[in-house]
Amino acid sequence: MAARIPPSVIDEINRKTDILEVIGQYVKLSPKGNNWWGLCPFHSEKTPSFSVNPESNLYFCFGCQKGGSVFQFLMETDSLSFPEAVRALADKAGVAIPDGDWNVADDSFRQKKALEELYRRVSGTFHWLLLNHPHATVAREYLEARGILPETRDAFLLGWAPDDGYWLYRFLRERDFSPEFLAQSGLFVRKNPRSCN
Ligand code: ZN
Repeated sequence: MAARIPPSVIDEINRKTDILEVIGQYVKLSPKGNNWWGLCPFHSEKTPSFSVNPESNLYFCFGCQKGGSVFQFLMETDSLSFPEAVRALADKAGVAIPDGDWNVADDSFRQKKALEELYRRVSGTFHWLLLNHPHATVAREYLEARGILPETRDAFLLGWAPDDGYWLYRFLRERDFSPEFLAQSGLFVRKNPRSCN
């Protein structure tokens, strides 16, 4: 049986990796607020909606909702498997990897990362809707009237959701999230698994 990559090793590599440096080799990034911004490598665009946060070591695109850790970035851009991405960054970070055939990533780690990715996408989507959806004008005006600064709104990823309890489920199913996975996410009520309220 293949060994599992110890999560502590992955955490250490993540800690010792400068995500700006890694992503900076693929995307030209400029600082604005807490994030660094550039043109998304995963979809075509003319104004930057791809953001990297060096504090959390995560990236997120407000245009196509792709996001994740520096490992996911390498997996996407260089078509690497998770262990390959870990190994590539371990060498750079000077972290020794325990011997073993680790073609199988730790399942619980993978599940945790998948859920984190889902939550990031959901909050990013609601935030994007708040800023862009025509029906969210009232919400935008409300925040302005309350004196919420754009910086605060963005830092806390304040969002707006359509007035339709089934919207999110449909949205995620269209993006190939399985019903089983969504049932584990805690985002939907058990009695009516397709609704958030
Ligand atoms: Zn994108």
